[in-house]
Amino acid sequence: MLENLTDRLGRVVKTIRGQARLTESNTAEMLREIRLALLEADVALPVIKDLLANIKEKALGEDVITSLTPGQALVGIVKDELANIMRGGNSAFDTAGQLNLATQPPAVILMAGLQGAGKTTTVAKLAKWLIRTQKKKVLTVSVDVYRPAAIEQLKTVTAQAGAEWFASDISQKPIDIANAAIDWAKKHYFDVLLIDTAGRLGIDEAMMTEIAGLHKALKPIETLFVVDAMLGQDAVNTAKAFHATLPLTGVVLTKLDGDSRGGAALSVRHITGVPLKFVGVSEKIDGLDPFDADRMAGRILGMGDILAIVEEAQKNVDLKEAEKLVAKIKKGGFDLSDFRNQITQMRNMGGLSSLMDKLPAQMAQAAAKTDMNAAEKNIKRMQGIIDSMTPLERAKPELLKASRKRRIAAGAGVQVQEVNRLLNQFEQMQTMMKQFSGGKMARMMGQMAA
Ligand code: GDP
Repeated sequence: MLENLTDRLGRVVKTIRGQARLTESNTAEMLREIRLALLEADVALPVIKDLLANIKEKALGEDVITSLTPGQALVGIVKDELANIMRGGNSAFDTAGQLNLATQPPAVILMAGLQGAGKTTTVAKLAKWLIRTQKKKVLTVSVDVYRPAAIEQLKTVTAQAGAEWFASDISQKPIDIANAAIDWAKKHYFDVLLIDTAGRLGIDEAMMTEIAGLHKALKPIETLFVVDAMLGQDAVNTAKAFHATLPLTGVVLTKLDGDSRGGAALSVRHITGVPLKFVGVSEKIDGLDPFDADRMAGRILGMGDILAIVEEAQKNVDLKEAEKLVAKIKKGGFDLSDFRNQITQMRNMGGLSSLMDKLPAQMAQAAAKTDMNAAEKNIKRMQGIIDSMTPLERAKPELLKASRKRRIAAGAGVQVQEVNRLLNQFEQMQTMMKQFSGGKMARMMGQMAA
């Protein structure tokens, strides 16, 4: 199993701690571990260099070495530095994904990117986001006159988003289509017009000229570059190429639900200077989240996107239940009944696979090797095991000694090892929850539940 960065650094720092002070060589070892972790997360080399310089300075400055949990202290620094690189950069969309409309409506948003990046899908997701969170009246239009299918696709997904679609035809010029759409939007009081543009398989001069022309004529309040996170370093190169001809105001990183660790996010932001605005997290129409630098930093470090799991849960879970859970976690009273609720909710969360990438890297790797049907079955068995316990046992798992375990295993029709495995998983989850309970998760759940 892959060691996570926290453990790795903990080990390194422990060896350093025995020594009187940080030296060139033991610092170098520590930085090497961080470098490896960042490389594994697909962060570009120049970015890593800059980062390491900052981290070195901070790590030597703070009392990492005297800290009781030096690995975590160091990871904290690394995580903050990562997040800082990716943070900020407001334009019309603020960092919470709220659109500030200073101009006369309609606000024009131009979407650019290569074919297959997820542009059309993102247009619909963004429409839905603007409608759902800000009650905007949204019109979409495609100026992709090279692929009639793309126009049809936008029509379909726009309907799913509950927005309106402006018809276009491949015999028209892109700029004429866009102007007609703007007129229509003005007459019918649309707040926002989302323009889906043509993408090619690679960077193409004709495409770049066309979209640069559209940009000049339409003066969009946002020009968003849509890019597939799975491209890794290539994502950085395409972003650079687009940004050279088109003044991008933001990046949407799609397909973060794939197996990418998200290092591309860091590199795109650092190398182009263009802020990330949104991330695509599923194929579904509501699979779009505002970009969150802290969360992405955690993901890059393989610490797992616990916040995302919680948020995902929030969409399906009763807030009262969540409130109770937060209170329990705060008191450190997360027990097996809660664990059972959690697993049940995971089943309700649109399938397990969408959850996988949000787990800490090493857990996700293990999970990727399992087949999903088997995993679903496994969840049922886990529920069965917990159901075979008495309420007291669920509340006090420490009571579960050998004879009780045997009784529970027999009741659930499983081997005792399975009961043990479940208890291990429960402990892991409990530890994870405790780590987060003091800080962000509790605050966030609290806020959401308020
Ligand atoms: P376009 O050519 O850039 O317009 O790309 P599309 O919008 O047609 O998307 C290409 C494929 O990527 C489609 O199958 C989408 O469903 C898929 N896709 C887009 N965004 C996401 C995402 O965030 N997650 C996942 N899993 N798939 C996505």
